[in-house]
Amino acid sequence: MRKIILGKNGEPTYERQVFKAALHTHTVNSDGHFSPEQVIDMYKSIGYDAIVFSDHKFVNKVSEYDGRGMTLVSGVELHPAGPRGVDWHILAIGVPEDFKDTEPATGQEAVDCAVAAGAVVFCAHPYWCGLHPEDVMQLENIAGIEVFNSTCRYLGKELNMYVWDACLDAGKEYTAIAVDDMHDRRNYGGAWTMVCAKSNSAEDIVDALKKGDFYSTQGPEFTKLVVNDGVLEAEFTACQYAVIVGRKSTGTPVWVHEYIKKGEPEETTEIKIDLRECPKGLLRIQLRDSQGRYCWSNPVNNTFA
Ligand SMILES: [Zn+2]
Ligand SMILES: [Zn+2]
Repeated sequence: MRKIILGKNGEPTYERQVFKAALHTHTVNSDGHFSPEQVIDMYKSIGYDAIVFSDHKFVNKVSEYDGRGMTLVSGVELHPAGPRGVDWHILAIGVPEDFKDTEPATGQEAVDCAVAAGAVVFCAHPYWCGLHPEDVMQLENIAGIEVFNSTCRYLGKELNMYVWDACLDAGKEYTAIAVDDMHDRRNYGGAWTMVCAKSNSAEDIVDALKKGDFYSTQGPEFTKLVVNDGVLEAEFTACQYAVIVGRKSTGTPVWVHEYIKKGEPEETTEIKIDLRECPKGLLRIQLRDSQGRYCWSNPVNNTFA
């Protein structure tokens, strides 16, 4: 069993199991190509532990399906009007099966209805939507954004690190999920989120997402992620680059990449960072393996500096 120890604030609070989750998927109940049963079979065959059905404006009754050992979580993708004629794509995970507010008028109304119903909410694929960091930050009570969405690859807009870092730099402690946004076979399995939960119940998975107890990946995996006495220790599968991203400690007050360890050409599997020597505020760790696949930790708020 893989063990990850990390709360949203980098506190070593517990050791938990890690569940591989598809947090954003579509079925024939909106514009997906496959039935919920087929989607279940597809993720089961590639080793997932949990699936969120998140059809456009439609909540699947997940209790009516056999998850074949995987946890099924009801979700929905909402599309209220956004800024400059752009529609929001609001991903709500953990709404009740009888959730009615599937056509909210505004982005904030979408977030508020979903959060009031018990969901955790993320702004989906902001780059693809044409949303700026300032737009995303207008929304109150979102947990974060999608840092990666495989389905946006056809436009080259799958990565959202720019939006994420701009929000972190503004002090928004957003977490970030990676998803495949599966509609058909092309992007299925391309990215996922590893959720560190007390159990694989839908409630515990949603709870862990609310707390930020997860990391996101296209392949590389953290096997340890903990802060002990101001030292951040991370262990992971072999990577070429392990980078800490945060505000530069000296000089101009801009968000920069500080290379704490660069494994190239050898591969690296661990870093230890004394947070007292790092900039104050939000930091995140990013891995990149030899195939160019990324893995993202959630932000740690460095209060040790
Ligand atoms: Zn979308
Ligand atoms: Zn979608």
